[in-house]
Parts: sequence; structure tokens; C-alpha cells
Amino acid sequence: MSDVMDNVVDKIKEEAVKLKDGAIKLTHKVIGKTNNVVDRTKVKFAISDINGKINDIYAKIGEELYKSHTDGTTAPDFSEEFASLDGMHGEIADLNDQLNELKETKLCASCGTYNDKDNEYCSKCGAPLNGEAGEEAAAEEEAAAEEEPAEAEAETETETAETEEA
Ligand SMILES: [Zn+2]
Repeated sequence: MSDVMDNVVDKIKEEAVKLKDGAIKLTHKVIGKTNNVVDRTKVKFAISDINGKINDIYAKIGEELYKSHTDGTTAPDFSEEFASLDGMHGEIADLNDQLNELKETKLCASCGTYNDKDNEYCSKCGAPLNGEAGEEAAAEEEAAAEEEPAEAEAETETETAETEEA
């Protein structure tokens, strides 16, 4: 009786570990994707924030320029504003580069690590990263993992039957 209970407990533990591993894998994948999306969103926000400031300066320049026209005065010196605009356009160029880099990273389908776009294999787990090939490898791995419990169950049943006979 206690042997049967031990078997049941072992089986429950086994399944719990399997579930836990599955959950960890899934979470890694989701977090990996989310992080990249969050980073891209942050960069996009920064770009639109700077664009807003650029437009404010454009508006200020335009307003002051038009005011000097209507007042018949000399156009004000905008060198400070132009310097700010130069700096902000530079920042936007940098942020766009960052955005491109984020787009071109390769997500490892097996472990969720982001790799350089030129990498063929994951720097962490060594899985192939070539787009669909990597996805397929992960799908095969998952399918294999799903088959395992059924086999393990059958084996356990056979073992139990043998134990009962003996
Ligand atoms: Zn990996």
C-alpha cells in the first residue's frame, strides 16, 4: 500500500517538475519577446518626445520670425535654437540606429536569448538561429517533450504490473 502511495507521490512530483520546467521555458520566451518590444517602445517614445521638442522650437522660430516681419524688425538670432535642433536631430539618428539594432536581433527559440543578427547559433545554448529553422527545432523539442509523459506512464504501468505479479 505504501509502495503504491510512494509511486503516486513520485509521479505527482515528476509531473510537477515537468510542468515547472515547461512554465519556466514559456516565461523565458514571453519575457524575451516582451523585453524587445518594451525596448523598442521606449526608443520610439524617446524619438517622438524629441520630435515634439523639435516641433516646439520650429514653432518658436516661425513665430518670432513672423513677428519680426510684422514689426518690421531684424530677424532674431536663432543660433541657440539651431544648435539645439542639430543636437536633437543627432539624438534621433542615434535612436533610429538603436531601433534598427533591436529589430535585427535574433531571438533564440530555445532559450529566449537575444543574439546578434549575424549569429547563426545562440551564444547561450547553441541552438540554430536561422529564423524558421530555429523555430522548427524548438517545435520539435516541444513535441518530443509532450510525447515523453505518455511513454513514462506506460513504463510505470508495466513496472507496477510486474511488481504486483511478483
Ligand atoms: Zn539559446
